[in-house]
Amino acid sequence: MSLEVHVLGTSSGRPAQGRSVSGSVVETPDGTLVVDCGEGFQNRLVEHRKSMKEHAGRRIKIGRIAAILLTHGHLDHTWGVLPWLQTMSLDGRKEPLWIIGPTEPNVIDVLLGAEGEPEVTPSDLVIQYDMWMDLGATSEMLGYPVNWVLGDGSRWVDMNQGKEIELPQPFTSVIISAFTTQHSVPSCAWKIETTSKKGRFDRESTSNLPQKVVQELANGNDVEHEGVILRSANFRAKSKEGLSLIISGDTAERAIETSCDLLVHEATFLDEHSDIANEHLHSTAAGAARTAVECDAKFLAITHYSARLDNHNESVSEANKIHSAVFACGDGDRLILDEDCTLTHLIKSEQGWMTL
Ligand SMILES: [Zn+2]
Ligand SMILES: [Zn+2]
Repeated sequence: MSLEVHVLGTSSGRPAQGRSVSGSVVETPDGTLVVDCGEGFQNRLVEHRKSMKEHAGRRIKIGRIAAILLTHGHLDHTWGVLPWLQTMSLDGRKEPLWIIGPTEPNVIDVLLGAEGEPEVTPSDLVIQYDMWMDLGATSEMLGYPVNWVLGDGSRWVDMNQGKEIELPQPFTSVIISAFTTQHSVPSCAWKIETTSKKGRFDRESTSNLPQKVVQELANGNDVEHEGVILRSANFRAKSKEGLSLIISGDTAERAIETSCDLLVHEATFLDEHSDIANEHLHSTAAGAARTAVECDAKFLAITHYSARLDNHNESVSEANKIHSAVFACGDGDRLILDEDCTLTHLIKSEQGWMTL
């Protein structure tokens, strides 16, 4: 049981310095998610899958991708969606796909039947939804069910049915949730967490007990046997905590109202440009680190670097003054959060992946 993030783009706004724009694949024990899907996403996915097959000895299965989670509507996070949907159609995909992202509360009101024209920010996902549908992103045209869901953090609308629904959960033992962030369009961070697992029941130590007693203990009930109270908990290993990660999308420095093990956060600017960060509602590396501290993240992975940065060194050193476990993502890197909550950061090289 682990969570693995494949970081396919680390550039802010446009391709620069050999980096591509945003898009990540997150593998969970139950299936796979894509978080953001900027321009050229599918080219990078093709290349990454080839490298995985050659150097990691396994495939990322496209059919296991159950949802695309969008953090906001800026094109460096969304422009790769439509062409990739069409490729999956050409490849004969049949599995359903959720596409979920944020919009304005007043758009939600209108989607749910309120009178009037909503005020919509340019680049809002609802505009792209309309456009993509016109361009053939419907279940009928694609040949597999595509379920669009737009929400404002508290209310979610199933766009096929035009009615309010709970945030969809494509998996049974992995929970997704959205936390509003602060950007120039409606935006959110996505949290992906595995549920905690009961420790293993120790059958060997019950070998002298009657079957009925063993069954009760296995079911979690304490049992009185020959005048002694047997505690169910004593026959089971400690339960395993779930793992959690958050991918922030673009945001001004702002507390995310939850905790996580790994925070993947934008770090567009260095401290010297904190004024530009504030103006454009982005974060500095130090700001990302403060958010990581606030949400108790054991690990911080920074990404979404401004075109003016030709390496991560300064970003890491500024973040490191605030948080001790900072990892700078590069395109093609893999972050593996293991069952025991250790993080392995694999860096892409010509020969495959290596740790630093
Ligand atoms: Zn961006
Ligand atoms: Zn943005």
